[in-house]
Amino acid sequence: DNNKTSANTADIQAIDADHHMHPFTNTGALNKKGARVITRGEGVYLWDSEGNKILDGMAGLWCVNMGYGRSELAEAANTQMKELAYYNTFFQTTHAPVAQLAKEIASITPDDLNHIFFANSGSEAIDTIMRMVRQYWSIKGKPYRNILISRENAYHGSTIGGTSLGGMGGMHGQGGPLVPNIERIRQPYWYGEAGEMSEEEFGLACAKALEDKILEVGPDNVAAFVGEPIQGAGGVIVPPANYWSEIQKVCHKYDILLAADEVICGFGRTGSWFGSDTLSIKPDIISMAKGLSSGYLPIAAVAVGDRIANAFIEHDDDFNHGFTYSGHPVAAAVATANIQLMKKENIVEYVGNDIGPYFQQKLREAVADHPLVGHIEGVGLVVGIALVKDKETKELFGDDTDIGMICRDHCFNNGLIMRAVGSRMVLSPPLVISHAEVDELCEKVRLCFDLTH
Ligand code: PLP
Repeated sequence: DNNKTSANTADIQAIDADHHMHPFTNTGALNKKGARVITRGEGVYLWDSEGNKILDGMAGLWCVNMGYGRSELAEAANTQMKELAYYNTFFQTTHAPVAQLAKEIASITPDDLNHIFFANSGSEAIDTIMRMVRQYWSIKGKPYRNILISRENAYHGSTIGGTSLGGMGGMHGQGGPLVPNIERIRQPYWYGEAGEMSEEEFGLACAKALEDKILEVGPDNVAAFVGEPIQGAGGVIVPPANYWSEIQKVCHKYDILLAADEVICGFGRTGSWFGSDTLSIKPDIISMAKGLSSGYLPIAAVAVGDRIANAFIEHDDDFNHGFTYSGHPVAAAVATANIQLMKKENIVEYVGNDIGPYFQQKLREAVADHPLVGHIEGVGLVVGIALVKDKETKELFGDDTDIGMICRDHCFNNGLIMRAVGSRMVLSPPLVISHAEVDELCEKVRLCFDLTH
């Protein structure tokens, strides 16, 4: 009954407040109000301990791509755990689940990115990229080629490596000093930062910023450029159409490795297996996590092409890097089952040709005319909405407002999870969302915008 549910909620909240330190959270403030207790998930819906049904417009944290409650994935874990719960892949050993997953990933990665290194989180995958590209140049006899270039407002995780590589000021201000030899250039946020420039001019200007930075630090000192195909946690920022081809030209000109952080964009989110496919990027190295297992177990990977892989293979020495759970058999079995399920249900085609375009159109029909909405940008099933103070002048809300949080709280109270990144609202629903569920999602977004303004 309801009283019992409420009592349970209060108990869990009290224990949580006493003992649980939440990530990216003002713990004191949360403890006073109590965390919402999520109890169950099915498809695109969650339930909380008070019995409320919530449409999860964020697929958890951009990860539950195949939706909640997939028994195929639970069974893969159950079977593998009973057969072989754990063994390492450090000491001249392997096992079938990790080998099969590497093959399964290689079947969907772009071009020749067929060599896979395993980690447990996106942050660890990014740390792996940072160490691997620097070690690559060391193997090539150029250890001085160790500068990594990334972008302002990029998110690459929260280990010391990921924090340093990312461009989040709020993170750089805590827990430093950061990892050295990292440089950042401007982000390709056309709507917010291009001034009078057209998208094309702005794309060129951003690529020129990369070239200027390379020339400033010396081309022979740069290991790699790293970027998310579409920035996710930075607010879902879709770069101008010419951006990546221009960036790629600059990387080629100076022989700089190109790394795509596919932690959000990978596994169908943009309507192709990888964001690099959708945006015509030809990276030398990619990171992936989240959608790799649809978030059912922690697992991440880095895929490299022959150029990098062969350098390591031909260099007769250990690569001194890895994690106890690199290629964990249970996580690997679940990830393989997840990819096979995605293939069986043609989910990538569904996002690319059907539900993705439907979602983008329906959302614009629902809210483009709203006084708060300045700009909507997105591809497939990921979208960012810039809220504006003034629709006519396109004046954005400054950092001094909490309009995003107000909107997010209206969503929270009206059965929708939508995330706020400053004054940008972002959505990234499970890829299995139906047309009727998209309709419901868009209606809820409209309602919450109306309540906010
Ligand atoms: N890279 C990108 C692009 C991400 O979006 C994230 C997480 O949101 C990460 C890396 C870090 O992943 P994790 O939180 O699994 O460490």
